[in-house]
Amino acid sequence: MSKCDVAIIGAGPYGLSATAHLRTVKGLDVHTFGEPMSFWERNMPQGMLLRSGWAATHIADPNQSLTLEAYRATSGNHFSSPVPLDRFIQYGLWYQGQTVPDLDQRKIASVEADAKGFQLILEEGETVFARRVVVAAGIGSFTRRPAEFAGLPNSLASHTSEHIGFRRFARKQVLVVGSGQSALESAALLHESGAEVEIVARSRQIRWLGGVVSRAIHSGLGPKISTLLYAPTDVGPAGISQIVARPDMVRRFPRLVQDWLRSRSIRPAGARWLVERLQNVPMHLDRSIVSAAPVGERVRIRLDDGGERTIDHVLLGTGYKVDVSKYGFLSPKLAQSITRFQGYPRLTDGFETSVPRLHILGAPAVWSFGPLMQFVVGTHYSSSALFRHIAGKATSDRVQVREPLVAELG
Ligand SMILES: Cc1cc2nc3c(=O)[nH]c(=O)nc-3n(C[C@H](O)[C@H](O)[C@H](O)COP(=O)(O)OP(=O)(O)OC[C@H]3O[C@@H](n4cnc5c(N)ncnc54)[C@H](O)[C@@H]3O)c2cc1C
Repeated sequence: MSKCDVAIIGAGPYGLSATAHLRTVKGLDVHTFGEPMSFWERNMPQGMLLRSGWAATHIADPNQSLTLEAYRATSGNHFSSPVPLDRFIQYGLWYQGQTVPDLDQRKIASVEADAKGFQLILEEGETVFARRVVVAAGIGSFTRRPAEFAGLPNSLASHTSEHIGFRRFARKQVLVVGSGQSALESAALLHESGAEVEIVARSRQIRWLGGVVSRAIHSGLGPKISTLLYAPTDVGPAGISQIVARPDMVRRFPRLVQDWLRSRSIRPAGARWLVERLQNVPMHLDRSIVSAAPVGERVRIRLDDGGERTIDHVLLGTGYKVDVSKYGFLSPKLAQSITRFQGYPRLTDGFETSVPRLHILGAPAVWSFGPLMQFVVGTHYSSSALFRHIAGKATSDRVQVREPLVAELG
């Protein structure tokens, strides 16, 4: 059986960044598993543009040198903000080549705790023992599919994450459910692929990011005031943006305030550059779907205002709901031993769960560290915090440590 000090499960922005940081701890044997940037490559639509701004889209590295600018200069690829999906994937793969060239792309089938650490069983059957495990497995296991659509086959109702392109919907009638970035951008791409699209959403209005208030602050009040109100992390509205950019501060607020900060910062919203692209797409707001039933090869849906229509497909832009017990690789016993709140693990300083030496990064850390953790920009905080925690333990085990340059947020 092979062994390592730390096994990292996941090779998206969080897993890669954590690996780059932990590998600066001398003598620490870090082994990282996963297909690099696979979620971005297989579960997001081609042609998508990243919603996060330029400064908030670098994957954190210990020397702050593996930035989008550095990638652009090295590759000769010209792109700017909003960052196109294919360029971001190439950037992630370049980052991986620089930091984790020995990435183990095999999938972990199960993780089981024992007295000394963890046994990881690979899909191929091999077992690896790790003293510590860092889960950075993303949100792919958490797709939200509302109950009304449970009786429909995938050919009639699918989640946005199941598509990398929409060409097959040309000349078809497609109803998109939701008012967040995924739903709105998918609707725009469907429309541009020649589908007849309409949007149904429960919200009374679409919230456009960079609206009147934020534009007035950015342009009317000048860059100084704008910088005071908006952190470069690019998460949350004026003022709140500066608070959520500091996860250490967020953690000190009473739970009610933390929940309020979270709901104010990650409400469904669309990037302003979608407004024009959606101007010919009908939107039925303040509406919900009460039933959906197959009719031959089509689907009949009924709205809460009594309206009915029969269409070719329902596209669920209904997002994700974190529940770490849905990570199929955690053994049921291990998943149950993680103290959770509504599916989110309760994490302590080094992103450690209630199970000693088991850490969880990324969106599941939102409940403990705030909304930044749902975005690439959260890697700056999480990788440094994880590094400090694990390097601290390594020091007490007399392993030599080199302090990385920690990116200052805010
Ligand atoms: C449509 C859409 C648009 C988005 N746009 C933005 C944006 O513009 N800006 C932004 O900051 N964020 C955006 N996000 C959020 C984005 O998903 C996260 O910021 C980011 O993916 C988090 O990275 P991660 O490393 O946690 O997860 P992921 O990137 O999902 O990586 C997960 C990794 O885990 C691996 N893995 C999973 N299970 C196993 C297993 N059993 N064994 C081995 N490996 C495993 C996968 O192969 C993968 O390498 C968007 C999300 C969606 C859905």
